[in-house]
Amino acid sequence: MAEGLPIDELWPAGTPVAVLTTEPLGRPLDYRAPEGGVGPGALVEVPLGPRRVLGVVWGPGTGDFPVERLRPVTRVLEAAPFAEPLRNFLTRAADYTLTPLPAMLRLATRAPGLADPPGPRKLLIGGGQPPARMTDARQRVLQALEDFGGAPLAPGELAALAGVGGAVVRGLVAAGGLVEIDAPRDLPYPALDPARAGKPLTADQEAAAQTLRASVASGVYGTTLLKGVTGSGKTEVYLEAVAETLRAGRQALVLLPEIALTADFLARVEERFGARPGEWHSGVTQTERRRLWRMAGSGGVGLVVGARSALFLPFRDLALIVVDEEHDTSYKQEDGVLYNARDMAVLRASLTDAQVILASATPCLETWVNAESGKYARVDLTARFGPQDLPEMRALDLRASPPEAGRWVGPELGHAVGERLARGEQALLFLNRRGYAPVTVCRACGQQIGCDQCDARMVEHRFLKRLVCHQCGATKPLPTACPSCGVEGRLAAVGPGVERLAEEVAHRWPEARVAVLSSDLFGSARALKERFTDIANGGADIIIGTQIVAKGHNFPLLTLVGVIDADLGLQGSDLRAAERTFQLMRQVAGRAGRADRAGQAMLQTFQPDHPVLQAILSGEEERFWRAEAAERQAIGMPPFGRLAAIILSGPDVAQVFDLGGELARRAAPLTAIGAQLFGPAPAPIARVRGRHRVRLLVKAPKGAPLQSAVAAWIAQVRVPAAVRLAVDIDPQSFY
Ligand code: ADP
Ligand code: ZN
Repeated sequence: MAEGLPIDELWPAGTPVAVLTTEPLGRPLDYRAPEGGVGPGALVEVPLGPRRVLGVVWGPGTGDFPVERLRPVTRVLEAAPFAEPLRNFLTRAADYTLTPLPAMLRLATRAPGLADPPGPRKLLIGGGQPPARMTDARQRVLQALEDFGGAPLAPGELAALAGVGGAVVRGLVAAGGLVEIDAPRDLPYPALDPARAGKPLTADQEAAAQTLRASVASGVYGTTLLKGVTGSGKTEVYLEAVAETLRAGRQALVLLPEIALTADFLARVEERFGARPGEWHSGVTQTERRRLWRMAGSGGVGLVVGARSALFLPFRDLALIVVDEEHDTSYKQEDGVLYNARDMAVLRASLTDAQVILASATPCLETWVNAESGKYARVDLTARFGPQDLPEMRALDLRASPPEAGRWVGPELGHAVGERLARGEQALLFLNRRGYAPVTVCRACGQQIGCDQCDARMVEHRFLKRLVCHQCGATKPLPTACPSCGVEGRLAAVGPGVERLAEEVAHRWPEARVAVLSSDLFGSARALKERFTDIANGGADIIIGTQIVAKGHNFPLLTLVGVIDADLGLQGSDLRAAERTFQLMRQVAGRAGRADRAGQAMLQTFQPDHPVLQAILSGEEERFWRAEAAERQAIGMPPFGRLAAIILSGPDVAQVFDLGGELARRAAPLTAIGAQLFGPAPAPIARVRGRHRVRLLVKAPKGAPLQSAVAAWIAQVRVPAAVRLAVDIDPQSFY
């Protein structure tokens, strides 16, 4: 069955082969090759106990078991085999992140129905007769179909999306409201045409594009930092590298941090190459996921645009990975397998002779240092495309002119907003806090309302009329009486969230159309995309947003960015506080004045002389990075040293601390490599979802074999069943 494999790569029927499954067994198990033989990397189904599970032929049998006692591979699936570079990548990624290999394979096989035959199947589309009897449930089904842009959906998938039973969907088909079509499975994606003309590039852009085209054409591994202010044309330029990849008949992957970006991006790809790329993110239907997974493997897709997990698609011939907004924190997966997609992109590329482009206006310090040291190449776009320079940036000293009590927009910022309204331009007020108010306090007893399951305050969300825990998502209705002392009517909201800011704005500028952009206010990514487009077309006068507005969306009418609280990110002791604030402020400011009008950015602050704010205002970026690098180097922190965090969690606080204590006593494998151990200490958020959390931090010299030392260290202890031990290599957050 395994067509397409050279015959000399086949293990004949009956020979032992090692098969890695996604089951948590730790290592590949031996099976006998089936009738017709099987080759390395083949996707197979194998018996495991009473079940049949998906697996990948990982290599020749290990010989652990006598051949006669091995069970045979049930069947070889009709899918492109996992080539050696992909298998190597999964192995190396597992080693790097200290993740069991089966969990890595799970990331690489996250598509439905991989074991299904590739024949045609029944899908449903709309456009039938409106059914004679319209019920709520039927209405939901039709709506769900429409929400997905009318793309054909499998019946089960449609029912799940609409939240109805299968009978409703079947009834709607019978009533003629849905039409059944025979759809071939897994069609290749329309070819992108690299020969179509792109935008005429400026000299600066053309030089950058030339360098990147040459890198792709070299056919060897390399990473390039593509640095340029927002609006300098980084996307235009890296699309040229994509074009070069397509010309060579190879595959490219563009990783984007936010789904909100893709609408804009897909349109640009279509304009440049005449067709849409494959899409991979949580908003994509199961049908499309399966199709894309298979087409990545067979070469039936030239360009994939996706979220971080797209990195684990089984690309047949990946030549280019672009990590756009490479500094974005969403590239770090913070639960399940803890990996950083940026670093894994570099690893994957290095194993397949591919090129990586890390694009950013404000690269992370690690990347900046790698470019300084020559480990990465660096290409700069220094000018913004078009006549506008970066917005003029100013600090507004809140000590000198504070807002009125209970208000957050100070007099100067308020005046500037008023001017924009009068001129018919847009203003953006940036506040990185979801909800109405971060704290709800009882004025009678002083208690703040907290989450029952977490060591965190509940955040009032007035649109939802509920209190929400931002750690675990638990919600409860806003009480009228204090849960601690029982006194009625004394609960008060403290501090601003975007909803409260919206209230102030509506009060102050009643005639203005206000849009609040916050990740929790949109049911679907699609709704959020539509709102972005609407605003870009002038559908709002004042935009109030959390950090989702910082990420690359174009608002051509926007000429003012006001940062409500520029000090917010500088509080706390996070290693990356300075870097993050610098990035966020620069990105947000970059939203202003992208079309033909000059932009202005105003940062409200109580500490206008803070070095980070000074660096932001002065625009002397290189100086900021150099200073930040020197500081990290002096204390041996990344990227000049290495960190690994251990997070222990469990329902019983003593049990969790006991394990932490035992780890601390057995730190010999760490000291052997010159590493230091800090902790155990309660995590900053010491309880989440009822589980107590304890952290340990390992700090090692740069060249030290951190992973193997950590593996040896934790292997010494027995982790009780109720306790979870998670290892976070290169931790980004310390909550
Ligand atoms: P970045 O990715 O650096 O933020 P973009 O590539 O998105 O920059 O470019 C910003 C805007 O300027 C986009 O609307 C883009 O289409 C436009 N642009 C950039 N370069 C050119 C060019 N050479 N010709 C025409 N438009 C351009
Ligand atoms: Zn909670």
